[in-house]
Amino acid sequence: MGTGFVSCEICRELKTVETSLTKHGWEENDRLLPAAYRRLVEVRVAGREDEPRSPRYCPLCGTFYSYESRYEYFANGSEDEEELRRLTGEEARAWLGDAVVDSFPKPLFSPLSATVVDEHVVVFSTGGEDLASGWGANAVAILGEGETLLVDPLVAPVYARELARLLAARGAGPVRRVVTTHHHTDHSVGASVFAEAGAEVIAHADSAARMAAEQPALLAERKSAWPVGTLFFDAVPAAPTRLVTEPLELSVGGVRAVVRPCGPAHTPGDLRVDLPDLGVVVTGDLVFHGYHPNLEHADLDGWRRGLEALLCEPAGTVFVPGHGAPGRREIVEAQLAWFEAAREEAGRARADAGGDGLVERLLVRFPDHRLAAVLPTAARVLALGT
Ligand SMILES: [Zn+2]
Ligand SMILES: [Zn+2]
Repeated sequence: MGTGFVSCEICRELKTVETSLTKHGWEENDRLLPAAYRRLVEVRVAGREDEPRSPRYCPLCGTFYSYESRYEYFANGSEDEEELRRLTGEEARAWLGDAVVDSFPKPLFSPLSATVVDEHVVVFSTGGEDLASGWGANAVAILGEGETLLVDPLVAPVYARELARLLAARGAGPVRRVVTTHHHTDHSVGASVFAEAGAEVIAHADSAARMAAEQPALLAERKSAWPVGTLFFDAVPAAPTRLVTEPLELSVGGVRAVVRPCGPAHTPGDLRVDLPDLGVVVTGDLVFHGYHPNLEHADLDGWRRGLEALLCEPAGTVFVPGHGAPGRREIVEAQLAWFEAAREEAGRARADAGGDGLVERLLVRFPDHRLAAVLPTAARVLALGT
């Protein structure tokens, strides 16, 4: 709290004090609160419902506000006045008490950190492992002369807009093309922000079909969930404008990029993006580094072949995984080793307990891996596939 509002897309649209004035019968002179006010959450404090001021909370950055509305009757038309005032953390605690302030969900929006792989390649991620942080998926910017190619524009427009802001701050050229490596929301739903600004959105044809089939219902469900829905209020399904089924070579302001189908593996329509002159491969979710892999739409044999193909790249190649830090071939080998160990544990679980307990076995085998939430699904898929 305090200075968080500077980088928050809701709070930076609100001055410290905002007022509105509405005169019934004189609507042409109305002054309304800024639209961003409607994205604040109304806070109900038991026993204080009758106080004239009531609290509001910014779900992105955690800043509290006080809101007050006054209504006056006049013979020739009544008047409404509202005042919205930003509070410091100390003011919020002095007014509402520590118990109320601490009972709020911690701010949902996670800042993006940037990892520079090469002067032309920057990776942005929340580094998280829950839905609100897009499960820590990586967005990869390929910076060419006067233009940028963005691979995997994150889980929601609110993150994509932050990505656009960070790219502009680095002096990156406009994002003319976006590649979504596969249909999962954490790699694709931010695309609308760049599409609205005129960018082409490239996806595998099978991935585009999955987006159209799955994302409307998924996003509707997320929007209605509290508190995470506040992050998805303007999310729309990714709508690719250029479908590929064969390798596609692009020049990104002089940087050569090859968009290459590499599935079915993690999903039916996986793409990787090779930057042959830079010795970099963006793998999408073929590689999870330090995270358990999500197997819900996996083809296990295809995935192994996809990883083996990555190992045929020249020595020294840097791989940017779908989740986790970039690395060299060790991170691809570690992904193959995870599958090998998981198959072993699935065999043992079946021998010992008819298949029960595989999740616990994987947790013991990989105590430092993040994203344990995917393990129940992974265990089901592995049990079928062994
Ligand atoms: Zn992912
Ligand atoms: Zn995925």
